[in-house]
Amino acid sequence: MSGYHVRQRVQNALTHTGNSALWRKIKECSRSSRCQSLWCGHCRNSAAKAVEAQIRKRLIDEEAMFDSASLDRSSSEFNDHMNSKHLHASGYVGVFSLDQAAVLAGLEFDRKRWKKLKERKTDRAFWIAGNYEMELVNYRFLVSSHNAESVKKQKQIGQLLSYSHDMGWISQGDNVGVLLHWHAVTNATEDDLVDVLGDAYWINNERLFKTSAPGVYVQNLHQDKLFDVNISKMASYAVKSATRYKHSFIGSDVGNELMLQSELAGLIGLYDQIQKRNWRALMFTHTVGSGQKTVLSNKETHSSN
Ligand SMILES: [Zn+2]
Repeated sequence: MSGYHVRQRVQNALTHTGNSALWRKIKECSRSSRCQSLWCGHCRNSAAKAVEAQIRKRLIDEEAMFDSASLDRSSSEFNDHMNSKHLHASGYVGVFSLDQAAVLAGLEFDRKRWKKLKERKTDRAFWIAGNYEMELVNYRFLVSSHNAESVKKQKQIGQLLSYSHDMGWISQGDNVGVLLHWHAVTNATEDDLVDVLGDAYWINNERLFKTSAPGVYVQNLHQDKLFDVNISKMASYAVKSATRYKHSFIGSDVGNELMLQSELAGLIGLYDQIQKRNWRALMFTHTVGSGQKTVLSNKETHSSN
């Protein structure tokens, strides 16, 4: 859908649902006063850059291992190494009523989960940096979709929905829900993630269908693309100007069905309420394994020498 059509739908959705003030903020976005809405072309780009900058901060030390004077970012030496040493991970928190309090509870739940994970004693050490994304799913469309994938999708829906009902995050009978999840880049291996995450992302004693061994969805970076391209694409992918429902919970398949105006306005408003300045409430950068292990082993090396 072109930028013009997105903008027209955003205007209609907001002005027809009593959110004219938010539409005015987006419409009047300028250098002196940025609206910071993902549904504003300029600000969506800025959000992607902010996510990317946060990931790049984590890469500085790793890139320093290459001789910076002669570092050729297009070389296969650089790209093969960096692409193979990083993973794209996606974690699923749950499905929530289209409501600020419900989604904030989910964000808080996941932040606490990471706080505990970071406190775990482990020999593993890695970083993971990314951002939360909220997408609208419509179960009616999901349940009635009759394609080859639909059995798998329904298994996922069943798992996430019953879990989210049990958690009190979504009301029985809601047809539309906010899928809260995150996308991140990490220098962890899949084994690191299995070891540190344990069953933290399991749902009712099983992994969410189609996720990898750690209970989150893990993908390799595209080995045939430049590392820099992979990183900026991933950062941009996680901040969308969505106007259609997402079709399955995992992967990038957005359907053709446009959101209702009330739902689109609800989602735009939800981001506006939750994201905070420069999207900081949606971004995270975690360090697992405090580095104590490295310090200790250095000491050991020195004393034995
Ligand atoms: Zn803007």
